[in-house]
Amino acid sequence: MSNPQSRPEVPVEHSGSGPLDRRDFLRQALPMPLGLLGLAAGGNSESSAAPAAEPAIPSGYKASEHNYAMGIDPNRCIGCGLCAEACKRENDVPREPFYFRTWVERYAVRASGATVVTSPNGGIGGFPDSGETGVLRSFFVPKLCNQCAHPPCVQVCPVGATFQTQDGVVLVDTDYCLGCRYCIQACPYGARYLDPRTHSAEKCTFCYHRLVKGLLPACVEVCPTQARIFGEATQRSSPLSRFMRFNRIQVLKAHLNTDPKVYYCNLDGEVR
Ligand code: SF4
Ligand code: SF4
Repeated sequence: MSNPQSRPEVPVEHSGSGPLDRRDFLRQALPMPLGLLGLAAGGNSESSAAPAAEPAIPSGYKASEHNYAMGIDPNRCIGCGLCAEACKRENDVPREPFYFRTWVERYAVRASGATVVTSPNGGIGGFPDSGETGVLRSFFVPKLCNQCAHPPCVQVCPVGATFQTQDGVVLVDTDYCLGCRYCIQACPYGARYLDPRTHSAEKCTFCYHRLVKGLLPACVEVCPTQARIFGEATQRSSPLSRFMRFNRIQVLKAHLNTDPKVYYCNLDGEVR
């Protein structure tokens, strides 16, 4: 869709003796000197609102011990949109139908050969029966930030406000984001938006504030059909690893070499 995008929460990671503040976290997580970030300090000071809640990071959490990813089985998705709704609630995403951290698309392949993709309000509330005829097949595809291992959004951010964590999540520090939109333009998946309240770039964080407490992302938790599978990508016994072993796995726009960490199984050739 023209595209729903998302906003992240700034994580605070711990080192052992106590919680770290944002700066400490960034010092650990960013592959660049913190001094560079100093250039951006206060860069978002014109923000009219600051809703980003500081998640409490349990003191025992070690990012280096995790490698998160998500699997998606479109065959299981019924297009109920509960995931997109849960995401908005969990992450304080603006209610307007332009802002999404995750959304669901319906693909309808017509007898004429044309494929029509729709996502009314990101799929929140489901997909009303349009009564259209001549549809050969239709199916639903949940989308979100792909948490790329080689993320163009991180590469273009001029102040390091967008960064990767050790556990495989791409985040935005809203304190440092300038609102320049470079990352929004660079993301090939339309996964980002500029929050109209904070003027900061935002996107899916895999619900990072929940992960560090051992909880699943909100979208995964509410999905009634287990169309979303979340977990450790490199732990052989994890549900995600089993999903990847026993299915034919694809990623979106593989030719761009962003190395996504959202894995789809049995993806229809029409999906883009
Ligand atoms: Fe997410 Fe990749 Fe887009 Fe960055 S470039 S917002 S990591 S999908
Ligand atoms: Fe599909 Fe699950 Fe989202 Fe419902 S909650 S739209 S079944 S992914």
